[in-house]
Order: sequence, then C-alpha cells, then structure tokens
Amino acid sequence: MAEAAPERVHDLLIVGAGPVGLALALALKDSGLDIVLADARPREAVSRDPRDLALAHGSRLTLQRLGVWDGLPVTAIEHIHISHEGGLGRTLIDADEHELPALGYVVSAGALAAALRQAVDAAGIPVLDDTEVAHLAPGADDVIASLAGPGKPAATLRARLAACAEGGLRADDKDVVEHDYGQHALIAQVEVAGGHRHTAFERFTREGPIALLPRGDGYALVHVARPETADTLLALDDAAYLARLQGHLGHRVRLTGVAARLRYPLALRYRRTAVGERTLWLGNAAQTLHPVAGQGFNLALRDVWALADTLLRQCVDAAPAGTAGRVRADPGRAEVLAAYARSRGLDRLGAIRFTDTLVRVFSNDLAPLRHARGAALLALDLLPPLRNFLARRMMFGARAWP
Ligand SMILES: Cc1cc2nc3c(=O)[nH]c(=O)nc-3n(C[C@H](O)[C@H](O)[C@H](O)COP(=O)(O)OP(=O)(O)OC[C@H]3O[C@@H](n4cnc5c(N)ncnc54)[C@H](O)[C@@H]3O)c2cc1C
Repeated sequence: MAEAAPERVHDLLIVGAGPVGLALALALKDSGLDIVLADARPREAVSRDPRDLALAHGSRLTLQRLGVWDGLPVTAIEHIHISHEGGLGRTLIDADEHELPALGYVVSAGALAAALRQAVDAAGIPVLDDTEVAHLAPGADDVIASLAGPGKPAATLRARLAACAEGGLRADDKDVVEHDYGQHALIAQVEVAGGHRHTAFERFTREGPIALLPRGDGYALVHVARPETADTLLALDDAAYLARLQGHLGHRVRLTGVAARLRYPLALRYRRTAVGERTLWLGNAAQTLHPVAGQGFNLALRDVWALADTLLRQCVDAAPAGTAGRVRADPGRAEVLAAYARSRGLDRLGAIRFTDTLVRVFSNDLAPLRHARGAALLALDLLPPLRNFLARRMMFGARAWP
C-alpha cells in the first residue's frame, strides 16, 4: 500500500492580504521561503478601501524598494499648517527646510492595496481569497491554521510561522491594552476654491483634530468629533455640513464641495507584546492607533521591513540577484521572533506614546491645556530644532531621535 504523502508545511502563513500582509509577502518574494496568504474577503475587496493614507517619506522609500511606488497616484504634501481653534499659536512645517521634495504623500488605501496585490500575483505568491483563518494552534514544530470560507469545506494549513496582519485587534483579548478615546473619525472628499497648493492642514478643535490632506485636485478630510456630534454631522446635508466645517477652519481655505462621508470609531489598542508562540502580529493587528498623526500604516511598513530583514538574516542564505535564496533555518523559532520584537520595541512604543499624547493634549478643552497647546505651537514655530524633530518623527519614526 502506498504511504500517504506528508502534509506540506509552509514556511510562512500571512493572515490578511490587506496592504500590510501584501507588503510583507512582497518584501520576501525572492527569499526562497514558502509563503502563502489567506484573506477572509474576496480579491477585489481591498481595492475598495475608502480611506486615504498620508505616507511618510520613509514609507515612500520602502514602497520604492518593493517596486510599487512608480505609477501610484500620489499627491505630495509640501507644507503642513498646524493650528488650534479658540487660541493663538500656529506653526508651519515646510519640505524645503528638510531638503526633501515632500514631507509626505497622500494615496488612496484602495489604490495602494491594488498595486501591492498586482505585484504579489505577478511574483507568483499564492493568496487564498475568501478564506478566513478562524483559529491558530501553535505547536512545537509548526502552527496549524483552521480555515473557513463561504461554500468551502473546513480545512487546515500548517506553517512554521504565522504573521497576523488582519487589520485590527479584539478588546476582549487578555494581551490587548485598550483606551477608548470617545471619538469617531468622519472621512470625506472635499473641494476647495483655488486648489490645495500641496498644503495640508491640521486644526485641533475641542472635540478632536480636523485634517485636510491634499489629494488629487481637492482634499481628503479626516474630521474627528465626539460620537454624538458625528451622528449629527452625518445627518446634515452637504451644504449644512460644509458650513459647519468652514466654521472650524476659518478663512485658511474656502470649501466648495463635499462627498463620500463615512465614519470610523477610534480607540487605541495594542498588544503588550507583538510576538507569541510561532505567531506574531503586524501593523493594525499589533497596534491600532488614532489617525491624528497619520502613523498607523507608516509604522506598519516599518514592522514589515524589520520582519523581512530579520527573516532574511536569520533563516535564509542569500542567492544571486533575481534568484531565490535557500532556507537554512526554521523561521518560527523563538529566537527569531525575539530578535524581531527587540528590533521593533522602541519605534513601536514611541509611536503609540507620541500619538496618544497628541490626542490627549490636543483634544481636550481644559483651559490650562488650551494655553499649553498655544505655547507648544508657538514653541514649535520659534524653535527650528523642535520643528525638525517633529517633522522627522512623522517622516521616519524612532529614527527621528539623534
Ligand atoms: C480614518 C482613518 C484614517 C487613517 N489615516 C492614516 C494615515 O493617514 N496614515 C497612516 O499611516 N495610517 C492611517 N490609518 C491607519 C491605516 O488605515 C491602517 O494602518 C491600514 O489600513 C491597516 O492595513 P492592514 O493591512 O493592517 O489592515 P486592513 O487593510 O484592514 O487589511 C486586513 C485584511 O485582513 C483580512 N482579515 C481579517 N481577519 C482575517 C482572518 N481571520 N482571516 C483572514 N483574513 C482576515 C481582512 O479581510 C483584510 O483584507 C488611518 C485609519 C483610519 C481609521
């Protein structure tokens, strides 16, 4: 009687084929690692993400290395104007000051995901669409993933390592820390008279920040407010909403149109540690941040790059350019995961604290904090080194530190 073939064990299962999971697969495309992705949704779903992302300069460099930057429909941010409602103090950050072509770039999350997916398909890396990873059971030699999907029989898949990039975390998980900000983000596309001149605005109001990010000919809006205010804002017709928004922004820009209003509840959630047994968490699955400083995806790309670097160094023998490497060590070993966690500790906690502090200090109507906000913005305006630090923090993460 013929013996049954041993069950295939992949080197890496990536849970979630959103922009983060796809970027990881691409970063490892020539590694020789046997990679498979699984996503609960159909293939086209990621390209319909209605959010817009502000990409830092460091993310541009990463996307260039992944080969998906050219052809992406991005809009450059050359100036950022930061102010707060109901007080003095404002600051302007300029790309020229930092000798860079732009401080950052705005891109539709859907367009970015579509470009990444195309590149992953072209590289021949398999993606199991419509396949939910319902459970992960780590063991001594591998992790067993239970798969489920519409009209599919229940199945399992084995891998040495599972990288979870499923785009969020559950508050009832005992390893997750949560702080609910009591805020919702209303996103929309906004038209303005005279164009955006590549200037982004961040305006802090007593209910939360309002960001206008130059995108195409108009602006991508992120308007943060208390949940009950968000209910009211969504119920207004376009003209009434525009008048309300104009009231917050003053005369810096003249709004002429709004479309596609949607909302997202906001909370800070993060895992105490982003690695477990033969499992690790990346991007929003490791830490979900408030969008105030546009750090979420940028931080996620730095997670991706660091993980790919760790796996390549510790588990793969490099091969000549254009050919696949040779896997020499188990990528799910505890030492590999520990090395990855060490490489991300400072940047990860720094971004969590930086974003959380901005929200708490700038989304608060207590009078002393209002004065402190004005003083902080004035200090930023008067002290180029401080402004330089803030700009570098936004562009490069923890590497902003001298
Ligand atoms: C209003 C708003 C504005 C933002 N603005 C910015 C910004 O300007 N700059 C920035 O850097 N970041 C920003 N962010 C954060 C950014 O949107 C996220 O960091 C990024 O989209 C996360 O990508 P992801 O691939 O981790 O998750 P997702 O895009 O959510 O993809 C996760 C994928 O995993 C799949 N999945 C989930 N569970 C499973 C499962 N069990 N099995 C299989 N598949 C599964 C899903 O179907 C999905 O396709 C913003 C967020 C919000 C809410």
